[in-house]
Amino acid sequence: SAKRSGENEIDFFREKIQQKAVKIVKLRNKLQEAIKNKEFTLFYQPYYDVKTQQIAGAESLLRWIHDGKVIPPLEFIDVLENSNLIMDVEEQIIQEAIKTIASLKREIPISINISPKSFKRDYIVPFIKETLNEYNIRGELLTIEIVERVFLENTEYTKTIMERLRNFGIKIAVDDFGTGYSSLTYIKELPIDIIKIDMSFIRNMVSSEKDLKLVKLIIDIARQFDLKTIAEGVETQEQFNILREMGCNYIQGYLFSKPLNKETFQKLLK
Ligand code: C2E
Ligand code: MG
Ligand code: MG
Ligand code: MG
Repeated sequence: SAKRSGENEIDFFREKIQQKAVKIVKLRNKLQEAIKNKEFTLFYQPYYDVKTQQIAGAESLLRWIHDGKVIPPLEFIDVLENSNLIMDVEEQIIQEAIKTIASLKREIPISINISPKSFKRDYIVPFIKETLNEYNIRGELLTIEIVERVFLENTEYTKTIMERLRNFGIKIAVDDFGTGYSSLTYIKELPIDIIKIDMSFIRNMVSSEKDLKLVKLIIDIARQFDLKTIAEGVETQEQFNILREMGCNYIQGYLFSKPLNKETFQKLLK
Protein backbone atom coordinates (compact mmCIF):
# COMPACT_ATOMS: atom_id res chain seq x y z
CA SER A 1 0.00 0.00 0.00
CA ALA A 2 0.92 3.67 -0.27
CA LYS A 3 1.27 3.90 3.47
CA ARG A 4 3.58 0.93 3.59
CA SER A 5 5.84 2.34 0.89
CA GLY A 6 5.87 5.72 2.64
CA GLU A 7 7.07 4.02 5.78
CA ASN A 8 9.70 2.20 3.82
CA GLU A 9 10.87 5.49 2.47
CA ILE A 10 11.14 6.95 5.94
CA ASP A 11 13.08 3.89 7.07
CA PHE A 12 15.31 4.33 4.08
CA PHE A 13 16.13 7.94 4.94
CA ARG A 14 16.47 7.15 8.64
CA GLU A 15 19.00 4.54 7.72
CA LYS A 16 20.86 6.94 5.44
CA ILE A 17 21.05 9.56 8.17
CA GLN A 18 22.22 6.94 10.64
CA GLN A 19 24.90 5.75 8.24
CA LYS A 20 26.06 9.32 7.82
CA ALA A 21 26.15 9.90 11.58
CA VAL A 22 28.16 6.70 12.07
CA LYS A 23 30.58 7.82 9.38
CA ILE A 24 31.09 11.19 11.07
CA VAL A 25 31.67 9.59 14.47
CA LYS A 26 34.18 7.17 12.96
CA LEU A 27 35.98 10.00 11.19
CA ARG A 28 36.02 12.05 14.38
CA ASN A 29 37.61 9.17 16.27
CA LYS A 30 40.20 8.73 13.55
CA LEU A 31 40.97 12.44 13.63
CA GLN A 32 41.40 12.30 17.39
CA GLU A 33 43.93 9.52 16.90
CA ALA A 34 45.57 11.50 14.12
CA ILE A 35 46.09 14.46 16.44
CA LYS A 36 47.69 12.23 19.06
CA ASN A 37 49.89 10.56 16.46
CA LYS A 38 50.78 13.90 14.84
CA GLU A 39 49.58 12.80 11.42
CA PHE A 40 48.84 16.37 10.34
CA THR A 41 51.32 18.29 8.34
CA LEU A 42 51.49 21.48 6.32
CA PHE A 43 52.08 21.95 2.64
CA TYR A 44 53.19 25.34 1.33
CA GLN A 45 51.91 27.06 -1.79
CA PRO A 46 53.95 30.08 -2.85
CA TYR A 47 52.31 33.20 -4.17
CA TYR A 48 54.10 35.39 -6.68
CA ASP A 49 54.56 39.09 -7.26
CA VAL A 50 52.73 39.84 -10.51
CA LYS A 51 55.35 42.38 -11.66
CA THR A 52 58.57 40.51 -10.87
CA GLN A 53 57.10 36.99 -10.99
CA GLN A 54 59.21 36.20 -7.92
CA ILE A 55 57.97 34.39 -4.83
CA ALA A 56 56.53 36.95 -2.41
CA GLY A 57 55.16 34.63 0.27
CA ALA A 58 53.41 31.31 0.78
CA GLU A 59 50.22 29.92 2.26
CA SER A 60 50.39 26.94 4.59
CA LEU A 61 47.76 24.33 3.81
CA LEU A 62 46.74 21.49 6.09
CA ARG A 63 47.21 17.88 5.00
CA TRP A 64 46.45 14.63 6.80
CA ILE A 65 48.92 11.86 6.08
CA HIS A 66 47.02 8.67 6.72
CA ASP A 67 47.86 5.13 5.61
CA GLY A 68 50.41 6.57 3.22
CA LYS A 69 47.85 8.83 1.57
CA VAL A 70 47.76 12.62 1.54
CA ILE A 71 44.23 13.71 2.46
CA PRO A 72 43.17 17.30 1.65
CA PRO A 73 41.21 19.40 4.19
CA LEU A 74 37.90 19.25 2.30
CA GLU A 75 37.49 15.66 3.46
CA PHE A 76 37.81 16.38 7.17
CA ILE A 77 37.88 20.11 7.97
CA ASP A 78 34.11 20.30 8.67
CA VAL A 79 34.28 17.46 11.15
CA LEU A 80 37.29 19.08 12.82
CA GLU A 81 35.50 22.42 13.02
CA ASN A 82 32.26 20.99 14.37
CA SER A 83 33.95 19.04 17.12
CA ASN A 84 36.41 21.53 18.64
CA LEU A 85 39.25 19.27 17.47
CA ILE A 86 40.19 22.10 15.11
CA MET A 87 41.71 23.97 18.03
CA ASP A 88 44.18 21.20 18.83
CA VAL A 89 45.12 20.92 15.19
CA GLU A 90 45.51 24.65 14.89
CA GLU A 91 47.93 24.78 17.80
CA GLN A 92 50.08 22.27 15.93
CA ILE A 93 49.71 24.27 12.72
CA ILE A 94 50.77 27.55 14.32
CA GLN A 95 53.85 25.90 15.80
CA GLU A 96 54.73 24.07 12.60
CA ALA A 97 54.31 27.14 10.37
CA ILE A 98 56.42 29.36 12.60
CA LYS A 99 59.06 26.64 12.85
CA THR A 100 59.12 26.56 9.05
CA ILE A 101 59.54 30.34 8.83
CA ALA A 102 62.57 30.00 11.09
CA SER A 103 64.01 27.30 8.82
CA LEU A 104 63.82 29.19 5.53
CA LYS A 105 66.90 30.44 3.74
CA ARG A 106 65.02 33.51 2.61
CA GLU A 107 62.65 35.68 4.66
CA ILE A 108 59.19 35.54 3.20
CA PRO A 109 55.83 35.85 4.94
CA ILE A 110 53.89 32.64 5.55
CA SER A 111 50.10 32.59 5.90
CA ILE A 112 48.12 30.42 8.27
CA ASN A 113 44.40 29.72 7.86
CA ILE A 114 42.58 30.17 11.14
CA SER A 115 39.01 28.92 11.49
CA PRO A 116 36.38 31.36 12.82
CA LYS A 117 36.05 29.31 16.00
CA SER A 118 39.74 29.40 16.83
CA PHE A 119 40.06 33.03 15.86
CA LYS A 120 37.72 34.07 18.64
CA ARG A 121 39.41 32.05 21.30
CA ASP A 122 40.94 34.18 24.04
CA TYR A 123 44.29 32.53 24.05
CA ILE A 124 44.95 32.53 20.28
CA VAL A 125 46.78 35.87 20.36
CA PRO A 126 49.08 35.05 23.30
CA PHE A 127 49.70 31.58 21.84
CA ILE A 128 50.82 33.03 18.52
CA LYS A 129 52.93 35.66 20.26
CA GLU A 130 54.63 33.08 22.49
CA THR A 131 55.38 30.85 19.54
CA LEU A 132 56.85 33.76 17.57
CA ASN A 133 59.06 34.59 20.56
CA GLU A 134 60.07 30.97 21.00
CA TYR A 135 61.45 30.86 17.45
CA ASN A 136 62.62 34.47 17.49
CA ILE A 137 60.45 35.41 14.49
CA ARG A 138 59.14 38.89 13.70
CA GLY A 139 55.37 39.22 13.43
CA GLU A 140 55.82 40.77 9.97
CA LEU A 141 56.64 37.30 8.64
CA LEU A 142 53.27 35.89 9.65
CA THR A 143 49.91 36.43 7.95
CA ILE A 144 46.63 35.19 9.38
CA GLU A 145 43.93 34.28 6.85
CA ILE A 146 40.35 34.53 8.04
CA VAL A 147 37.09 34.20 6.12
CA GLU A 148 34.47 36.96 6.00
CA ARG A 149 32.18 34.84 8.15
CA VAL A 150 34.27 35.99 11.13
CA PHE A 151 32.93 39.53 10.61
CA LEU A 152 29.26 38.58 10.79
CA GLU A 153 29.04 38.61 14.56
CA ASN A 154 30.72 40.27 17.50
CA THR A 155 32.55 42.81 15.38
CA GLU A 156 34.00 44.70 18.33
CA TYR A 157 35.67 41.62 19.76
CA THR A 158 36.91 40.58 16.31
CA LYS A 159 38.37 44.04 15.86
CA THR A 160 40.18 43.80 19.20
CA ILE A 161 41.79 40.50 18.23
CA MET A 162 42.81 41.86 14.84
CA GLU A 163 44.35 44.96 16.41
CA ARG A 164 46.29 42.88 18.92
CA LEU A 165 47.71 40.74 16.10
CA ARG A 166 48.48 43.87 14.12
CA ASN A 167 50.40 45.31 17.07
CA PHE A 168 52.86 42.44 16.73
CA GLY A 169 53.28 43.26 13.03
CA ILE A 170 51.19 40.28 11.95
CA LYS A 171 49.23 40.85 8.72
CA ILE A 172 45.61 39.96 8.22
CA ALA A 173 44.20 38.57 4.98
CA VAL A 174 40.53 38.11 4.14
CA ASP A 175 40.23 34.69 2.51
CA ASP A 176 37.66 33.79 -0.18
CA PHE A 177 36.77 37.47 -0.48
CA GLY A 178 33.35 38.14 -1.98
CA THR A 179 31.76 34.80 -1.12
CA GLY A 180 30.75 35.49 2.48
CA TYR A 181 27.51 37.48 2.36
CA SER A 182 28.89 39.94 4.86
CA SER A 183 28.60 43.70 4.54
CA LEU A 184 31.44 45.57 2.87
CA THR A 185 31.58 48.15 5.65
CA TYR A 186 34.07 46.05 7.56
CA ILE A 187 36.64 47.13 5.01
CA LYS A 188 36.69 50.61 6.43
CA GLU A 189 36.36 49.57 10.05
CA LEU A 190 38.69 46.63 10.49
CA PRO A 191 42.48 46.46 10.24
CA ILE A 192 42.94 44.39 7.09
CA ASP A 193 46.08 44.15 4.96
CA ILE A 194 45.30 41.71 2.18
CA ILE A 195 42.29 40.60 0.18
CA LYS A 196 42.34 37.14 -1.37
CA ILE A 197 40.10 37.05 -4.41
CA ASP A 198 38.20 33.78 -4.40
CA MET A 199 39.08 31.13 -6.94
CA SER A 200 35.51 30.95 -8.25
CA PHE A 201 35.73 34.51 -9.63
CA ILE A 202 39.11 33.86 -11.20
CA ARG A 203 37.81 30.70 -12.83
CA ASN A 204 34.71 32.38 -14.25
CA MET A 205 36.10 35.75 -15.28
CA VAL A 206 37.37 34.49 -18.63
CA SER A 207 33.90 33.45 -19.77
CA SER A 208 31.68 35.73 -17.72
CA GLU A 209 31.66 39.49 -18.14
CA LYS A 210 30.05 39.87 -14.72
CA ASP A 211 32.77 37.92 -12.95
CA LEU A 212 35.36 39.94 -14.82
CA LYS A 213 33.75 43.16 -13.60
CA LEU A 214 33.61 41.81 -10.07
CA VAL A 215 37.31 40.98 -10.04
CA LYS A 216 38.13 44.43 -11.37
CA LEU A 217 35.90 46.00 -8.73
CA ILE A 218 37.56 44.03 -5.93
CA ILE A 219 41.01 45.10 -7.09
CA ASP A 220 39.89 48.73 -7.36
CA ILE A 221 38.35 48.71 -3.89
CA ALA A 222 41.50 47.15 -2.46
CA ARG A 223 43.64 49.84 -4.08
CA GLN A 224 41.39 52.60 -2.71
CA PHE A 225 41.83 51.23 0.78
CA ASP A 226 45.57 50.54 0.44
CA LEU A 227 45.11 46.79 0.66
CA LYS A 228 47.08 44.22 -1.30
CA THR A 229 45.33 41.65 -3.49
CA ILE A 230 46.16 38.00 -3.98
CA ALA A 231 44.27 36.13 -6.70
CA GLU A 232 43.62 32.51 -5.76
CA GLY A 233 43.51 29.54 -8.11
CA VAL A 234 45.23 31.12 -11.11
CA GLU A 235 45.70 28.26 -13.56
CA THR A 236 46.14 29.85 -16.98
CA GLN A 237 48.30 32.47 -18.65
CA GLU A 238 45.14 34.19 -19.83
CA GLN A 239 43.92 34.64 -16.24
CA PHE A 240 47.35 35.91 -15.25
CA ASN A 241 47.40 38.48 -18.08
CA ILE A 242 43.98 39.83 -17.13
CA LEU A 243 44.98 40.12 -13.47
CA ARG A 244 48.23 41.89 -14.33
CA GLU A 245 46.31 44.30 -16.51
CA MET A 246 43.94 45.05 -13.64
CA GLY A 247 46.77 45.72 -11.21
CA CYS A 248 46.40 42.68 -8.97
CA ASN A 249 49.48 42.46 -6.70
CA TYR A 250 50.04 38.73 -6.24
CA ILE A 251 48.89 35.49 -7.77
CA GLN A 252 48.64 32.05 -6.25
CA GLY A 253 47.73 28.99 -8.29
CA TYR A 254 48.79 25.95 -10.26
CA LEU A 255 50.09 28.14 -13.11
CA PHE A 256 53.08 28.97 -10.91
CA SER A 257 53.09 26.29 -8.23
CA LYS A 258 50.97 23.66 -6.53
CA PRO A 259 51.12 23.28 -2.74
CA LEU A 260 54.47 21.64 -1.96
CA ASN A 261 55.67 19.54 0.92
CA LYS A 262 58.01 21.29 3.31
CA GLU A 263 61.24 19.90 1.91
CA THR A 264 60.40 20.77 -1.69
CA PHE A 265 59.29 24.22 -0.62
CA GLN A 266 62.49 24.82 1.32
CA LYS A 267 64.57 23.77 -1.68
CA LEU A 268 62.62 26.12 -3.94
CA LEU A 269 63.72 29.06 -1.79
CA LYS A 270 67.43 28.24 -1.87
P1 C2E B 1 41.80 28.27 1.03
O1 C2E B 1 42.42 28.82 2.25
O2 C2E B 1 41.00 29.20 0.20
O3 C2E B 1 42.99 27.63 0.22
C1 C2E B 1 43.10 27.61 -1.17
C2 C2E B 1 42.80 26.25 -1.73
O4 C2E B 1 42.91 26.33 -3.15
C3 C2E B 1 43.77 25.15 -1.31
O5 C2E B 1 43.01 23.96 -1.21
C4 C2E B 1 44.72 25.07 -2.50
O6 C2E B 1 45.36 23.81 -2.61
C5 C2E B 1 43.75 25.30 -3.63
N1 C2E B 1 44.39 25.81 -4.85
C6 C2E B 1 45.41 26.68 -4.95
N2 C2E B 1 45.70 26.96 -6.23
C7 C2E B 1 44.82 26.25 -6.98
C8 C2E B 1 44.59 26.12 -8.41
O7 C2E B 1 45.26 26.74 -9.22
N3 C2E B 1 43.59 25.30 -8.77
C9 C2E B 1 42.82 24.63 -7.89
N4 C2E B 1 41.86 23.83 -8.35
N5 C2E B 1 43.00 24.72 -6.55
C10 C2E B 1 43.99 25.53 -6.12
P2 C2E B 1 43.18 22.96 -0.01
O8 C2E B 1 44.61 22.88 0.41
O9 C2E B 1 42.48 21.69 -0.35
O10 C2E B 1 42.39 23.69 1.17
C11 C2E B 1 41.01 23.91 1.09
C12 C2E B 1 40.54 24.78 2.21
O11 C2E B 1 40.71 24.16 3.47
C13 C2E B 1 41.30 26.10 2.33
O12 C2E B 1 40.84 27.04 1.40
C14 C2E B 1 40.98 26.49 3.76
O13 C2E B 1 39.70 27.07 3.84
C15 C2E B 1 40.95 25.14 4.45
N6 C2E B 1 42.25 24.94 5.08
C16 C2E B 1 43.42 24.53 4.55
N7 C2E B 1 44.40 24.49 5.46
C17 C2E B 1 43.83 24.90 6.62
C18 C2E B 1 44.34 25.10 7.95
O14 C2E B 1 45.53 24.90 8.25
N8 C2E B 1 43.44 25.53 8.90
C19 C2E B 1 42.14 25.79 8.59
N9 C2E B 1 41.32 26.22 9.55
N10 C2E B 1 41.65 25.63 7.35
C20 C2E B 1 42.48 25.19 6.38
MG1 MG C 1 43.51 30.41 2.72
MG1 MG D 1 40.74 30.99 -0.26
MG1 MG E 1 38.57 28.41 0.33
